[in-house]
Amino acid sequence: MLDPQTLRWDLSPFYAAVDDPALRSDLDAAKTEAAAFRATYRGRICAPALAAGELAAALEHHASLQRLALRPYLYAQLLFSADGSDARHLRLFAEVREAWQEISETTLFFELELLRLSQEDFGGLRAAPELAAYGHHLDTLRAHAPYTLSEEVEQALKRKDLTGKEAFVQLFDELSASLRYRFRMPGEDAEREVAGEELLALLYHPDREVREHSFAAYLETHGAQSLVLTACFNNLMLDHGKEVELRGYPDRMTPTCLTSETSPEMVERMLAVSEAHYGLAREYFAIKRQLLGYEVLKNTDLYAPLAGVERHFPFAEAWALVQEAYAGFHPELAASVERLPETGRLDVAPRHGKSGGAFCMGLYPGADPYVLLNYTGTLRDVTTLAHELGHAAHYVLAGGQNLYHYHPPLPLAETASVFGEMLVTRHLLDGEQDRQVRIALLCAKLEEIIATTFRQAMLTRFEQAAHARRSEGLLTGDELCELWLEQNRRLFGDTVAMIPAYRWGWSYISHFIHARFYCFSYVFGELLVLALYRRYQAQGAAFAPRYLDLLRAGGSAPPEALLRPLGIDLTDPEFWAGGYAVVGEMLEELKVLVGEA
Ligand SMILES: [Zn+2]
Repeated sequence: MLDPQTLRWDLSPFYAAVDDPALRSDLDAAKTEAAAFRATYRGRICAPALAAGELAAALEHHASLQRLALRPYLYAQLLFSADGSDARHLRLFAEVREAWQEISETTLFFELELLRLSQEDFGGLRAAPELAAYGHHLDTLRAHAPYTLSEEVEQALKRKDLTGKEAFVQLFDELSASLRYRFRMPGEDAEREVAGEELLALLYHPDREVREHSFAAYLETHGAQSLVLTACFNNLMLDHGKEVELRGYPDRMTPTCLTSETSPEMVERMLAVSEAHYGLAREYFAIKRQLLGYEVLKNTDLYAPLAGVERHFPFAEAWALVQEAYAGFHPELAASVERLPETGRLDVAPRHGKSGGAFCMGLYPGADPYVLLNYTGTLRDVTTLAHELGHAAHYVLAGGQNLYHYHPPLPLAETASVFGEMLVTRHLLDGEQDRQVRIALLCAKLEEIIATTFRQAMLTRFEQAAHARRSEGLLTGDELCELWLEQNRRLFGDTVAMIPAYRWGWSYISHFIHARFYCFSYVFGELLVLALYRRYQAQGAAFAPRYLDLLRAGGSAPPEALLRPLGIDLTDPEFWAGGYAVVGEMLEELKVLVGEA
């Protein structure tokens, strides 16, 4: 019944085919609507401020024209993901993107004018009952108002960014993409040119030498480019410092915190609690060393597979496992995604032309999301299925929200997905008799948690230290290496030996280049799920309805308001420590299993 080869997307709810005339007429209608919207409201939002009822009508109008444009846009994106080798899909995607860009430019004035409302006018509007349904959307938009400069300055900055900040990002991307690696792949006789991704994937290879040599080759190739990479880092850090000064942000972290609806104080607390628990990671590394039977654990051994636990999960079995785990939590969680296979919302098997990886695409309120997988039957694939179905459940349950509040706020974007993974891991552990498989399951989960909490906290600390040093002057490549090793030593202690080439470990991480201080959001997301899971363990079935309400609320309120009904206080350091308590318990469980050997 659930044959992965026949489970494909049904895109007919959008359009009949790539050349369906209805698609063009939707695009044209969206452009016409955007022009009408502009003609009606441009120059009318502030000074004097629009009446609350009129602004509500404007927001409604804006949402409805966006929905009109979203249909062709999402359809083109899905077609392209399902088969990127078809030139017609590529052309449609480009055409639709251009139209979307045009519509965005036509309606950009709306956000800018909302930002220019005086604080007093905004306060009055915000309190009006007519606008209550758009409250959170307006608040997140307005949070940027104190740091927005005059229109002329903003325009000038944007133009100069092209040859400034963006040019260095572009240089980094082009250089990274141009790097060629010479390597003898396992099982081959001679060296050849391989892609960087292929080398990084070898960190999971069973042969220790292969893991170490491949990662060293990857890092040394970056080290050889240190002049350019160091210049990119230096200039982007300087640029960020200047922007913080110019806009008057109270802290270097503020811009990222505004987008992610957190505060620098909250992030600092979370990082401090994470560092205080680095010992848990070290305990795990010691167990991993023992399981692998090594004298010394190297950083290239952290993801080494454990011997003798290869298992294949047919897709029907994986689907049943996730449904059981979700239903065990609450029948409604399982029911929210139950229909996805038969309604053509799943694309399961890998095939030529299809995008790699996995994702869940939310559309708009009231329409079921689409899920893409490249399912091959490994344990990782089962947890990936649980992850993507978590996203899907979140979108289905948030279907009652308006378009502005449909997507969850950024810190909650991975809540339902990672929580879903947790439920399935626990379900698998409960049903598994084989001790080796149980050990492997726990190790896989702990490694994933360590990579998203402790490692990301360490990355954020490195970034903070580098930015602080940059404000005193230019950093050399060697100085960046030293800062990097220093933060890693704090995490690893003497339980992990770093291979010499690892000094270049900072130089390839694109988050440092693309999104300053972004890494802490992974720590936030993971710890939040662990803390939620802890409450579920303590409260049992009583927890489930409150959790479902959280998902139903979508992005209708800031994270702290959404989480309060679940008894979570984000300002309490105990909250973050609670997440690490779950890690501690999992470690104890692992120790008992290993001890039985
Ligand atoms: Zn996800």
